[in-house]
Amino acid sequence: MENSKRRFLKGTCALLAGATGATLLTTVNAAESAKAEAEIKYAMVHDESKCIGCRACEVACREVNEVPEGVSRIEILQTGPFGEYPNQFYHFSRKSCQHCEDAPCVNVCPTGAAFIDKETGIVSVDAWKCVGCQYCIAACPYQVRFINPVTHAADKCDFCRETNLAQGKQPACVAACPTKALVFGNLKDSTSEIVQVLRANPTQRAKVALGTRPKLFRILAKSGEVVL
Ligand code: SF4
Ligand code: SF4
Ligand code: SF4
Repeated sequence: MENSKRRFLKGTCALLAGATGATLLTTVNAAESAKAEAEIKYAMVHDESKCIGCRACEVACREVNEVPEGVSRIEILQTGPFGEYPNQFYHFSRKSCQHCEDAPCVNVCPTGAAFIDKETGIVSVDAWKCVGCQYCIAACPYQVRFINPVTHAADKCDFCRETNLAQGKQPACVAACPTKALVFGNLKDSTSEIVQVLRANPTQRAKVALGTRPKLFRILAKSGEVVL
């Protein structure tokens, strides 16, 4: 009886010590995170008035990030044709992770596999921690996550964090776009191209009313701007 009581107390103390340690760690991490976030916050713009729907971005993403057939980190959605022949036009929009600042996928993940990189603000996945429960897939309001059939972990656009970005290159989709419809960069750098583009153009983000604070911006095409 006494032994089990002692074990209980020992366990409780260990838990409390762990909790205090975790609180301290959280506080330190929060301070570090605030410092890091003050320096880099990556985002992307898709200028739909420049997009011709060639899908070079999809191909480049699959190749660079070894995304298996049947799933994809980026899709170019086509709507149209609009107008009367021969003056018909199409619209192309990008479907991919929005890199939410308040990311529902991260909030529901039970293992910490879905996380926001403190240094860059990129929403990413640690495949080793992922148990494939799919909570994040259900929680994402943009329906951009999937289970990678090779790794069996959740997957999605990570701004090429582990591939091109790690090598100091632009994300693969951005580099491959022949019309420069994609702009990637640091929102915290007032001299960056993305900040100039955002200042010069009216933009939209998807489902902002949900409070997710997405970092994928759209420049909408006006009627007739993309003619095939
Ligand atoms: S778009 Fe979906 S997957 Fe991407 S950060 Fe937001 S909730 Fe997560
Ligand atoms: S599938 Fe993986 S990343 Fe998604 S919530 Fe479950 S453990 Fe987290
Ligand atoms: S940023 Fe990288 S991971 Fe995301 S869609 Fe583009 S190529 Fe794919």
